[in-house]
Amino acid sequence: MIPFNKPYMVGQEHKYIDQAHANKKLAGDGVFTKYCHEWIEQNTGTKKALLTHSCTAALEMAAILADVQPGDEVIMPSYTFVSTANAFVLRGAIPVFVDIRADTLNIDETLIEAAITSKTKAIVAVHYAGVACEMDTIMAIANKYSLLVIEDAAQGVMSSYKGKALGAIGHLGTYSFHETKNVISGEGGALLINDERFIQRAEIIREKGTNRSRFLRGEVDKYTWVDIGSSYLPSEIIAAFLWAQLQEANHITDKRLDIWNQYNSALTKYEEKGLLRRPIVPVECQQNAHMYYILLNSFEDRTAVMQRLKEKEIQSVTHYVPLHNAPAGLKYSRKHNELPITESIGDRLLRLPLWVGLEEVQAICDALFE
Ligand SMILES: *Cc1c(COP(=O)(O)O)cnc(C)c1O
Repeated sequence: MIPFNKPYMVGQEHKYIDQAHANKKLAGDGVFTKYCHEWIEQNTGTKKALLTHSCTAALEMAAILADVQPGDEVIMPSYTFVSTANAFVLRGAIPVFVDIRADTLNIDETLIEAAITSKTKAIVAVHYAGVACEMDTIMAIANKYSLLVIEDAAQGVMSSYKGKALGAIGHLGTYSFHETKNVISGEGGALLINDERFIQRAEIIREKGTNRSRFLRGEVDKYTWVDIGSSYLPSEIIAAFLWAQLQEANHITDKRLDIWNQYNSALTKYEEKGLLRRPIVPVECQQNAHMYYILLNSFEDRTAVMQRLKEKEIQSVTHYVPLHNAPAGLKYSRKHNELPITESIGDRLLRLPLWVGLEEVQAICDALFE
């Protein structure tokens, strides 16, 4: 069976975990966490990076920092992972869904303005498949209405938009290092703080609502409960693993791009025959090959293709069930107008195996054509 995903180990993970063990510093915010913070800051240009135990945790921190109150609204796509919406629902806010673009499958920036009300507090830009949203337009709308922009860049580590790293463009950005992503630590994530106003409060929220970070830097002489918060930081064992991966991030991205390009050229002729549509990457977006997906012509086609690939021992997977039609979505969120593209994509998108070391791209494409 060719699996859909296979976590790639770079080789140095054990060594750094052994060092963390020898350091006898297993809780968070030790040297490996510091190395990871510096790496993210240097490689993205963000003002401050904070490791979290997941992208979900980073999104929850962003929702607290955005200060959304019960009844406030947050504009986002429905074609995304549950955590994008859940983080705000946990604060009592209401996700307001707008449709996605047919080309990139990202939030349609031309639909955002009409969805803004007096209750709107933020826009969440989810960079699907590591391909950037139209950030210039989104930032301009946010500035015009004094809204915050939070980038869900869970899939966007090592991607950029007009030369700027994803996650480092909005006021806040979030990364995932889950084992299904490109650069991994099992579970893991980071919050990128691009607006300095949020740095101090973010440190407090991440440390259970205490000013422990300031205490450790000697800025205050005791630490205490000063705000709401939770335990959002990962242990040093996780950070040690991630440090090994981050150092190989360029290599991982190159290898993935190579496989992505193999798919993309092998499938050109099937697109020309009208059998499927390949991903579309705008010129201003440098992507990280997080995903290779195809769009089939119908739900029935996709079901049949998945079944036949399975018979040939190739695992392919669908992606999001649009949130607005999910049980919790019906309860906690609303849509602004109908979402025809979201619904159509939800029915027709199929993801193909993509992992470092995959050598069967041609065989997969042949099987797909059959
Ligand atoms: C993976 C993913 C998340 C959640 O990441 P975790 O690190 O597993 O919490 C959130 N949003 C998007 C778009 C994702 O792809």
